[in-house]
Amino acid sequence: MITAIINQKGGVAKTTTCINLAACLSLYYHKKIMVIDLDPQANATMGSGVNKNTLDMSAYDLLCQQADITQLIMKDTQAGYDLIPGHHDLTAAMVELTQTAQSRQILKQSLMQVVDTYDAIFIDCPPALNMLTINALTAADNLIIPMQCEYFALEGLTDLLNTIEHVKASINPTLYIDGLLRAMCDMRHSLSRQVSEQLITYFGAQVYQTIIPRNVRVAEAPSYGLPVIKYDQKSLGSKAYVSLAGEYQKRHL
Ligand code: ADP
Ligand code: MG
Repeated sequence: MITAIINQKGGVAKTTTCINLAACLSLYYHKKIMVIDLDPQANATMGSGVNKNTLDMSAYDLLCQQADITQLIMKDTQAGYDLIPGHHDLTAAMVELTQTAQSRQILKQSLMQVVDTYDAIFIDCPPALNMLTINALTAADNLIIPMQCEYFALEGLTDLLNTIEHVKASINPTLYIDGLLRAMCDMRHSLSRQVSEQLITYFGAQVYQTIIPRNVRVAEAPSYGLPVIKYDQKSLGSKAYVSLAGEYQKRHL
């Protein structure tokens, strides 16, 4: 199963969800997991305890076809999963990758070599709808869309849904939205509850039951290069991501 974590908005907990869902599936449910960091900011890489500044190779080398995927996989990071790290060079990949059908399929084709060795592969997408994102949408079986339960959260969702439809129509017909994730939501606020209700009205069972609360331990963990389940297993954030991993593995693994 290949799942891309996507939303062209920044700061909606894509990276946090990618790291913590992957870590909980690995450390709590004992699944074999890989994370691919496709964001030039490489937050998922740093959050997995890998220093982006000392890397010889990254996902950039994969997209520019300068290295074989098996050379790029960092085995057993301290976060509990394998990782293809991200790097600032990925901004160059956006320019170098032309808009051809072939360029859109580079990630998909390299992943075909290794997909059977993992229970799940998660792709952390950049906050944009660019060629990196298109490569992720082409390679993915399905998508997780994290959203904050705020007024502007729904704005921009149409652009994302249009892009998904375009990729489905042109290159990846079986792609589907696995779930919308309410992240950093505080259900004590009536606005959060209203937005949440709207999401359920539009997307029904596609909305994960688990809600990720705002929790300072979740925000602190990446500065130690750890997922929250290793940093503070008893925290509400850790429990929420274990619950999300439970939903994911019931659906797929
Ligand atoms: P994105 O990848 O979508 O840009 P991030 O995962 O980097 O978003 O999250 C944005 C910021 O919010 C980060 O500083 C992160 O630590 C913080 N954050 C994410 N989830 C939570 C949470 N549940 N509680 C508190 N802070 C969070
Ligand atoms: Mg991110």
